[in-house]
Amino acid sequence: MQLAKRMGELGTESAFEVLARAKALEAKGRSIINLGIGQPDFPTPSHIVEAGRKALADGHHGYTPSNGILPLRETVSAHLRERYGVEVNPDDVVIVPGGKVTMAFAMLMFGEPGAEILYPDPGFPIYRSMIAFSGATPVPYPLPESLGFGMSADDVLARITERTRLIILNSPGNPTGGVVAPDEVRKLAAGLVRWPEVVVMSDEIYSRLIYGNAEHFSLLNLPELRSRLILLDGWSKTYAMTGWRLGFGVWPSGLAELATRLAINTHSCVNAATQYAGIAALTGPQDAVATMHAAFAERRDVVVEELNRIAGIRCASPGGAFYAFPNISGTGFDCRTLQDRLLEEAGVAAIAGTSFGGFGEGYIRLSYANSVENIRLAIARIADWLGSNRKPVAD
Ligand code: PLP
Repeated sequence: MQLAKRMGELGTESAFEVLARAKALEAKGRSIINLGIGQPDFPTPSHIVEAGRKALADGHHGYTPSNGILPLRETVSAHLRERYGVEVNPDDVVIVPGGKVTMAFAMLMFGEPGAEILYPDPGFPIYRSMIAFSGATPVPYPLPESLGFGMSADDVLARITERTRLIILNSPGNPTGGVVAPDEVRKLAAGLVRWPEVVVMSDEIYSRLIYGNAEHFSLLNLPELRSRLILLDGWSKTYAMTGWRLGFGVWPSGLAELATRLAINTHSCVNAATQYAGIAALTGPQDAVATMHAAFAERRDVVVEELNRIAGIRCASPGGAFYAFPNISGTGFDCRTLQDRLLEEAGVAAIAGTSFGGFGEGYIRLSYANSVENIRLAIARIADWLGSNRKPVAD
C-alpha cells in the first residue's frame, strides 16, 4: 500500500500517549496520579445531560443542517452579544464536533505548499501537526516566560512574510495557562494593517477559565480584525463536555459557507442531541460553571505554592486554563527525562514541555484538573523523588 506523503506530517498529542503509559502502569498495580490529561474532572452539569436525553426522547435522531441547528447558532450569537457586546450573524457561526475541528478547517482552508502559518510555541501540539499536514510551513513564535507566556506582538509581526496566510493565537494558553495582555493584541492588530491578506485564528477555548487579575480579551472586540478573524470556542472545557464533541467557530463573511462545505465532506453534522444539550448549557443556570471555576482557582493556588517550595523549580502563576508550566531547568534534568522518570519512578503523570514545541525545553506541564488532595500528593511525590535524585546543576 502506498500512503499519501502528508500522512508522515501528522503529529499527535503526547498527553494521550502518557495517559496510555499511566494506565499500563496502573494495570500492573502501580499508583499513578494523573496530572497529564487536560480535561475537567467534573461531570457535565445534570441539566445539560437532561437536555441531551430529552432531545433523544423527542426524536431528534436525524441529520441536522451541516452548520448546526439554527436555535443553537442563534444561542451562540446571543451569548457572544452578552459577553462581548458584539453582533455576530448566526449565519457566520459553524457548529462543529469539538474546538479541534474549527482549527483543522482553518488550516485546510489556508494551508498549502508554499504558504506559511504562524503558531505559538509552546502551544497546543495539533497546531503544528495540522499546519504541516496541510502542506504549509509551520512557523513558531515564542511565548516567553518573562511575558507570563503571553505573546509579544513584535515577535509575531517580525515573522510575517509575503507567504504568511494565517496566524494562530491562543489565550488563555495550553500548555502554559498564559494570558495575552490586551495591549499586545491591539499592537498586533495595528501591525497587521500592513498585511491585509493575513487571517487570524484566535483559539479562545479556555476563555471562561480565567483567574485573579487576569482578563480575557477576545479578538471579537477588535472591529478592525472582524473581516479576517476566525474565532474558535466551544463547550468542552467550560461545561465539562469534552466527550460530547461540541464546538463553534465564528467565521468571516463568506468563509462560513466554505467551513460548512468542509463539514458536509467530513462529518455531515454534530449529532443532534448534543446540539440541544449545547443550547441548555448556554441558556441554563451557570452555577455549576462557577463552582468548577472556583475549584480550579483554588487548585491553581495550591499547585503554584507547592511547586515553588521545591528547590530547582520555579512556577509562574497561570492566569487561565487549568495548566501550570513550571520551569524545571534548576533540577538538572531535561524535560523528557523528567517526564519519564516521574511517571515510572515517582508515580506522577506530567507532560514534557517539548511536547508543545522546541521552546518548551526546561518546562513540564501539570494539569490541575484533579483534586486538591491528589495535587498535593503528586507534588509531594515529585519533591521526594527530586530529593533523592537531584543532579548537580552547572552555573
Ligand atoms: N484548543 C486548545 C488550546 C486545547 O487545549 C484544546 C483541547 O485540549 C482544544 C482546542 C480542543 O478542544 P475540543 O476538545 O473542544 O476539540
